[in-house]
Amino acid sequence: MREMGQKIGRLLGGLGVDPALWADGSMPSVTPLTGEEVGRVRVADAAVIDERLERATAAFRSWRHVPPPRRGELVRLWGEELRAAKDDLAQLVTIEAGKIASEGAGEVQEMIDICDFAVGLSRQLYGLTIATERPGHRMMEQWHPLGVVGVISAFNFPVAVWAWNAALALVCGNSVVWKPSEKTPLTALAVQAIFDRAVARFGDAPEGLAQLLIGGREVGEALVDDPRVALVSATGSTRMGRAVAPRIAARFARAILELGGNNGAIVAPSADLDLALRGIAFGAMGTAGQRCTTTRRLFVHDSIYEGFVGRLKAAYASVAVGNPLEGEVLVGPLIDRAAFEAMEAALSAARAAGGVVFGGERVCEGASYYVKPALVEMPSQTGPVLEETFAPILYVMRYDDLDAAIGQHNAVGAGLSSAIFTRDLTEAERFLAASGSDCGIANVNLGTSGAEIGGAFGGEKETGGGRESGSDAWRAYMRRATNTINYSDALPLAQGVSFEI
Ligand code: NAD
Repeated sequence: MREMGQKIGRLLGGLGVDPALWADGSMPSVTPLTGEEVGRVRVADAAVIDERLERATAAFRSWRHVPPPRRGELVRLWGEELRAAKDDLAQLVTIEAGKIASEGAGEVQEMIDICDFAVGLSRQLYGLTIATERPGHRMMEQWHPLGVVGVISAFNFPVAVWAWNAALALVCGNSVVWKPSEKTPLTALAVQAIFDRAVARFGDAPEGLAQLLIGGREVGEALVDDPRVALVSATGSTRMGRAVAPRIAARFARAILELGGNNGAIVAPSADLDLALRGIAFGAMGTAGQRCTTTRRLFVHDSIYEGFVGRLKAAYASVAVGNPLEGEVLVGPLIDRAAFEAMEAALSAARAAGGVVFGGERVCEGASYYVKPALVEMPSQTGPVLEETFAPILYVMRYDDLDAAIGQHNAVGAGLSSAIFTRDLTEAERFLAASGSDCGIANVNLGTSGAEIGGAFGGEKETGGGRESGSDAWRAYMRRATNTINYSDALPLAQGVSFEI
């Protein structure tokens, strides 16, 4: 306990976080590595929420006038600060979210990458010039800053999701207010301190441009309902999305919803099976099955089923599970007891539905929850297979007809990420076609998890439909104005309408 607390203290101190913010508050932060409390943060009450939203509104009103490339300069400095802080912040991610070292570092790298992307974007926030039917007229689009962007994030990407949103929102001319997961408040404090250093170097950013609101669901609800928040970008479970979507819609605000996944992969007879094995092992067991893009369902062709699933079981049996601070492990802990109980319940339900479970045992006692990843051979896609359980469970099923397998693949509520392993061009193209995978992400010969920031990230159906990060996702953070300018001395009406007075 003492040792972990000291380590946290050193890391937070080194990153410039005021001890008053994390040492004597009312909300505990618990490390899943050991189950110990490592901090106590202060929760934002109604007065603090109101004051920060007021400041965010004022910051937006000033920041929207700053030329976008100058806004990009702040994000460039932020990226520099993140590079300097990468190792320490990655360790905090490991301690608070339980990720292995390379995944913690990878998450901070994603923040750096999106900063680089946003700096380039700050000179590319362009609209179209559109041909008009009226002589002496010009029609064009402008993209204007939107307002205060509220970000609600999940525990499993405690720093990257915030950066995906904030880097774009800031170059687009918005201010940002962030409600991180109540399970990872210390990393959020560290991220804010790093950002504040960039602001100090920048010199003339408005006060309150990016702020933090620590707390539980009720703080998220305050952001969702507040008319000062123009866009709510909410990442978390589909249950959370169902609660927030109607409330945001009721006040006609914008939403980006990044919700749960139930991601499937197909292994076809022609697949490179070594490559498929690695892709599926990382997708299903990586981050202890706690990624929105984790591979949860696997369809293996009958002709290769026995051999391939046998190799997969061998990989499951040999994977190193344990405390990422204490050795070379590939699978760290579940976030908490509730996650473990949900895994147990899903495995029981799978057994009751005829599933044969391999692995899945808890590997230690006490207040932390380390489990062996579970591979479950299912006779059909039923019961718990249809839902996301946020734990390392891979349901494996046979198929003999690709179209039927794609049909099964699509027959779940979520629509985030998907993959096919095949060297047959026609199979790959069928999977990617309009009648193929119905997910926001569809891959060929790589797994379902580990997206790059350059593409738009998000999914369909119960995953919420939002897109973040690369491609043209920036448009969600701006409002479009269509402008028509008449430079003639006549007033021709559109569609040939006549209105002479
Ligand atoms: P969660 O839904 O329990 O919480 C996510 C966030 O929403 C937290 O900050 C929480 O305080 C807040 N929240 C919960 N209910 C709320 C409400 N009614 N109003 C306002 N805020 C509310 O999710 P979690 O356990 O932290 O994360 C795991 C889930 O997140 C999984 O379902 C995973 O698939 C999903 N996820 C999705 C993506 C994506 O990009 N699609 C990324 C990461 C995680």
